[in-house]
Amino acid sequence: MKKLPKLGCACEKHDLIESEYRTSSLGTDLTDDRKAEVNVIQCRLCQRIWIKYDIEFSNSPESGRWYKGIIAKKDVAGIKPEDAVEHLENLEWYICGGSFFGNKEEFGRGKLNLDL
Ligand SMILES: [Zn+2]
Repeated sequence: MKKLPKLGCACEKHDLIESEYRTSSLGTDLTDDRKAEVNVIQCRLCQRIWIKYDIEFSNSPESGRWYKGIIAKKDVAGIKPEDAVEHLENLEWYICGGSFFGNKEEFGRGKLNLDL
């Protein structure tokens, strides 16, 4: 587990407006036909880089959810969309949100729940 301090920055909270941050698409994770969108977001305020894993279920919109966790700058170049889940699961904490979580962001750790 990597030690990751929580800074109380906007990027850890609900009020992060992602379009205002530097976002680049890493691609789509097709593992288990999940078609999850993976993006890399850099916070303008604290400069930390996040990897965000966004999964939608077309026949069950209320199950849509995302997970977002810190990634070191040096790791961004080597990571592939299929690696995102493992990266997140190995972090000390990540943030999860979306309809599945009642559109509230919360801290989580360990295994990602990617099931309907
Ligand atoms: Zn931040």
